Amino acid sequence: MAQIKIIPHDLRNKIAAGEVIERPASVVKELIENSIDAGSTDIKIEVLYGGKRLIKVSDNGTGMDSEDALLCFERYATSKLFSEEDLFNIRTMGFRGEALSSIASVSKVKLVTAPKDISQGVSIEIHGGEVKAVKDSPSFGTTVEVKDLFFNTPARKKFLKKNTTELLHIIDRVTEEALAHYSIGFTFISDNYETMNIPFASGIRERIMQIYGDEFLDGLIEVNAETENLTIQSFVSKGANFRNSKSHQFLFINRRPIRDPSIAHAVYRAYEGMLPHDRHPVFFLFLSIEPGKVDFNVHPTKREVRFEDKEYIYRFVHNAIRDIMRKDRIEYAVQFTEAPSADSIPHFLNISDSSSLPYGAALSEHLELAYKHYLPFIYLGDTFIAISGKGGLTLIDHHAVHERILYEKFLKGIDIDSSQLLFPKQVKLSHKEHRIILENSSMLRDFGIDLDDFGHDTVIVRSLPDVLKEADIRGILSDSASCFIEGISPDTSMREVLAAKIACHKSVRGKTILNQEEVSQLLADLGGCDNPDNCPHGRPTRIFFSLDELKKMFKRV
Ligand code: ADP
Ligand code: MG
Repeated sequence: MAQIKIIPHDLRNKIAAGEVIERPASVVKELIENSIDAGSTDIKIEVLYGGKRLIKVSDNGTGMDSEDALLCFERYATSKLFSEEDLFNIRTMGFRGEALSSIASVSKVKLVTAPKDISQGVSIEIHGGEVKAVKDSPSFGTTVEVKDLFFNTPARKKFLKKNTTELLHIIDRVTEEALAHYSIGFTFISDNYETMNIPFASGIRERIMQIYGDEFLDGLIEVNAETENLTIQSFVSKGANFRNSKSHQFLFINRRPIRDPSIAHAVYRAYEGMLPHDRHPVFFLFLSIEPGKVDFNVHPTKREVRFEDKEYIYRFVHNAIRDIMRKDRIEYAVQFTEAPSADSIPHFLNISDSSSLPYGAALSEHLELAYKHYLPFIYLGDTFIAISGKGGLTLIDHHAVHERILYEKFLKGIDIDSSQLLFPKQVKLSHKEHRIILENSSMLRDFGIDLDDFGHDTVIVRSLPDVLKEADIRGILSDSASCFIEGISPDTSMREVLAAKIACHKSVRGKTILNQEEVSQLLADLGGCDNPDNCPHGRPTRIFFSLDELKKMFKRV
């Protein structure tokens, strides 16, 4: 029985027209989404030359009979939408009946399909919208092969980027679809090499783990909430697990990958007070909204949506994440105020130490040029340290200071002793990161990070600079990958950018409390820097108030 009807003219006009197929990755997305709508549990994607030569998507879904197989290439031919009412109650990935017709008009397509439980199917070839061959063909599920994309539209073809760039876009789309549909198995083969094999997962947590690995997941906290017509399941950065780029930020609405700056803003705001201005949280947000409350038909590639009540959703997302982060912070604060070990007690002033001086004396009499070894200091919160000496009061941001010191060490290649790890460390990356990191491994080697491919999107780290031994190497590789992808601005070098990214990972993070000796060392190292006053991102490292300035502030002069 034919499932497909032609959408009537009046409704056609209500469906926004637009360019659906921009590049190979758009074909991949549309074909995967068709397979999803067909109830597939296994989807296999194969590409050659970044999808320019071939894109082939095979599934084990419902398939089509020969009548539907011919009709599906017509414009506005769909089995998913029949009335205006349906347009505002969309529960399928596709609904406009335009993907296959668009793809077929700009490439050479072969469709082989058979209805479920019937092995005799049909094979149809269409070149540039013209039917070339229709044959009986044994089949199971549906396979769509798209060859020579834009062969008849050279102007479009010209805009395609090099194969590796197009491939990265494809990987992004496959990753998004795999995240959004954890119960479907995905296999991805590029240039005859199986690059991704993600079996069925029992939930989102497992799917994130399959793609990014355990260690990545450890840095995230799960946030779930529910209200009328709206639920959120999400995995977001824990307290200090921030990144240098936005490359791990995903929003899905009813399992559809969506871009929405306002929801992203709601997440950033939830981290207010914890997130340095040039750092970014990781987030995977899965929102489910009653289909009548959101319009998916506003963007040609369905990347954007319109909400009935945007503010309501903004507040919902913001509150859900903020509440969890507040809890996280309270736990953190408790930990911070718990009795520290003897040598980590902040040296507010060590009266029993004969070399220490009472405050007044320290401030007014010791106008020494260098900080004394026994300098009194006090922690203000978990980031700032107030130090007396040099004839005044210095406030330092110890994260920023550490970043500056390491950055310069990395850049100059000094004091970066790298040694072989006794137990080489396996690090699971996403497929895209894995590819990029291996391509650029020589750059990392310059910083003392030596690694090799270990298969299955994993690298094996064999050597690390001593200063990075305790660092979050997964985070470093991930940030380095996004740095290689994003490229650099003309006035900086990749070495500088990379040094800044790596330095900021090792720098003393929130929960570390430095002891006397460490503070003295930190100040001595800072003093030896070329640019001691700013961290590599431009934030101040230290602010000094001279006694004269303090006197002025207190209106004593
Ligand atoms: P839409 O997905 O918006 O309906 P498409 O042009 O992508 O439009 O597909 C047209 C129709 O072809 C679909 O509605 C569906 O009935 C059928 N179809 C496409 N791909 C498949 C597939 N992989 N398995 C079964 N049916 C499919
Ligand atoms: Mg479709």
